[in-house]
Amino acid sequence: MINNQDKINNTHTRLLDDEPVGTTVQVVRVMGDGAFRQRLLEMGFVRGAQVTVLKNAPLRDPVEYMIMGSHISLRHSEASQVEVTDKDAEFCDMEDAFNGIVETTVAGVEPLADNVLRIALIGNPNCGKTSLFNNVTGAKEKVGNYGGVTVDSKEGWFTIGGRKVQLVDLPGTYSLTEYSPEEMYVRTYIRDNRPDAILNIVDAGNLERNLYLTTQVMDMNIPVVIALNMWDELEKSGDHLDVEMMSRLLGARMVPMTAFNGHGVKDVLQAAMDAIDESEQETLHHNVNYGTLIENSLKELGGMCPTLDRYTVLKIIENDQHAIDLISGQANAEEVKKTAAEMRKRIERDYNDDIVSIVTDLKYGFVRGALAEALTPNPDRATGETKPGYSLDRLLTNRWLALPILLALMWLMFEATFTLGAYPQEWIEMGIGKLGEWIGSTMPDGILKDLIVDGIIGGVGGVLVFLPQILILFFFISLLEDSGYMARAAFIVDRIMHRVGLHGKSFIPYLIGFGCGVPAIMATRTLENRRDRIVTILTIPFMSCSARLPAYLLLVAAFFTAKQGLILMSIYLIGILIAALTAIILSKTILKHDKTQFVMELPPYRKPTARNATIHMWSKGKQYLQKMGTIILAASIIVWALGYFPRHEGQTPQEQIENSFMGMMGKAIEPVVEPLGFNWQMGVSVLTGAAAKEIVVSTMGVLYTGESDADEESTSLKEKLQTATKPNGEHVFNPIVAYSFMLFILLYFPCIAALAAIRREAGTKWMLFEIVYTTAVAWIVSFIFYQVANLL
Ligand code: GDP
Ligand code: MG
Repeated sequence: MINNQDKINNTHTRLLDDEPVGTTVQVVRVMGDGAFRQRLLEMGFVRGAQVTVLKNAPLRDPVEYMIMGSHISLRHSEASQVEVTDKDAEFCDMEDAFNGIVETTVAGVEPLADNVLRIALIGNPNCGKTSLFNNVTGAKEKVGNYGGVTVDSKEGWFTIGGRKVQLVDLPGTYSLTEYSPEEMYVRTYIRDNRPDAILNIVDAGNLERNLYLTTQVMDMNIPVVIALNMWDELEKSGDHLDVEMMSRLLGARMVPMTAFNGHGVKDVLQAAMDAIDESEQETLHHNVNYGTLIENSLKELGGMCPTLDRYTVLKIIENDQHAIDLISGQANAEEVKKTAAEMRKRIERDYNDDIVSIVTDLKYGFVRGALAEALTPNPDRATGETKPGYSLDRLLTNRWLALPILLALMWLMFEATFTLGAYPQEWIEMGIGKLGEWIGSTMPDGILKDLIVDGIIGGVGGVLVFLPQILILFFFISLLEDSGYMARAAFIVDRIMHRVGLHGKSFIPYLIGFGCGVPAIMATRTLENRRDRIVTILTIPFMSCSARLPAYLLLVAAFFTAKQGLILMSIYLIGILIAALTAIILSKTILKHDKTQFVMELPPYRKPTARNATIHMWSKGKQYLQKMGTIILAASIIVWALGYFPRHEGQTPQEQIENSFMGMMGKAIEPVVEPLGFNWQMGVSVLTGAAAKEIVVSTMGVLYTGESDADEESTSLKEKLQTATKPNGEHVFNPIVAYSFMLFILLYFPCIAALAAIRREAGTKWMLFEIVYTTAVAWIVSFIFYQVANLL
């Protein structure tokens, strides 16, 4: 029995945060409670684990640590929750925890009638799940969505021995405790879908941490096969793993694999098929042996809840709310809860610790015990030395070079996306234009022709113009993610983003937002935390996208003679400021974040593969066309129709729009926009601009000059705006009105394409919130500016 509490109390402890760079210390305990503490324990901050302080981020926060061979970034505030002591202080005896495995019998499962076998991929982030998935299925995937949580998971198919098997790529997780949306997703998926086998992918170079998840998976009563991925890296590192012994110690099939080039993939799949075939008979399952006291409790409580697997029964003893909810329908629910509480008390008293630490310690003890026998580390590597794959960090997270390199890379990505992307975009526009002309010349005049040429073809064009940017951008993002740089970018800028309550990973989507909000919103998928993702999505539209620029350029050129650059910049800065304020307010109120999100792993650098990047790019492009294209198209047709009807004979384009529903709406809202200094023409432009912000300028063109192809360089439009007068003879525009209008264009209603993206990524509720919120903010800011500026 472990009883280290007295020894711990006599140990002189310090806080991890006070340790200087370069030192190695030993974890004594993690303070605090709940999700944050659990996450740290799961990441390996268990008693006795050695931690090395590697480096401060260039902005001094967060800090990079090495624990169990993996690199983890913690903020100062989190590191001060970890108590440590000298690395060779003796205060606990870890080997005590290894009790080997226990065996439980699981009844055979009848194969399903439809004969579709299902295998689920489970593993830590970056262990190679997607590489395996792409390799096996040829990426003929279907992106799944589950219960309103937008977490990526993909389904694909392959055949083996004439049998068709479905493979499911689940999101990466460190554990199944249901604290994060990913964990919840994986857990619910397994519970509801009961796959025929679980393929647990582990990074063979980082077994201690990766096998923690395995200990949870083993308790699910589903056949498990462990794929030792990154076998190539393990071999290169000089460590030696006795696979056969390890399989025996864990009681699970283990197969070496290199997903990235396909080595061993066939064997892994065959092992999974064998495991499924065996499971048709009654089989022995192997589980971590938690010692007599806990094992007896598991047996007794398991007897009271015969439908639950071992994992859930243990979670009930751990007082886990999700697990307890599962038995609420059971007749003996109260009794189970009472018994579990008594067991918990007994265990905590015996081990003299809290239940979460006890169970985590025992699991890690089991893993460590098995590794001590089967893994021989490279004798030439000293403790505290980093593994290969991290040497680029000397450059890329260097105190002085990190930020310039980050900015240069971002600039490169931006240029490639928006400058290179402009060419295919032009071709698409040209093609669409040609198609319109051709149909225009062959079809008889009439409503149908106008609908097809201006409504439908215009709408399709509105969808397609974004496609090149989306494809290029996601190619780059995939490279950044696969190489491991994305985590570094977050590490470098985390301190800045932290100020507004966000994670460093929000930085890249924001940056993309200056080009276009649609890919920016899609790129928030790289954020693991759903709350962070929603805050980022909702604030991205305040980053002034390139579609708004023509309107600013027109207005600045027409009404500001001096300091034009400064005026333009101030608009961008106000957008950033409003985004920051919004993020602060949201993350302090309705979207309070949980604290687990800041514990981030910095994976080793790996060579990204063009194959993965291409597949990722296509999958995003397809998603965009399928899921958003329809909404954008429909909405563009509606906006077109509002400007087209009702028809009157012999009108000029100017009169037509003035008398259309859109014109009527513009006039109806005139009283609402008057306090901002706007007239009805500006009201109409703002309304049509909802389809796409570029349209603001062309609508002004129609209304003021009768020309629909006006752009920001059109002198006639500029002059018309300068000389336009109200009925009382005053000028419609002056610098104050123009600035107020620019503020409004910056802040109001994101375009329909962006809203479609928001709906897809965050849900209809948040899309509606965004419509109301942005428009309200735009009105208030323009109102305050206009009224105050007129007083001065
Ligand atoms: P996921 O997060 O689990 O889906 O992992 P990915 O499949 O995206 O892989 C993460 C990174 O590891 C990518 O850069 C892959 O190219 C790389 N990778 C995957 N499998 C292997 C492997 O067997 N060996 C090596 N050296 N790299 C791999
Ligand atoms: Mg993946």
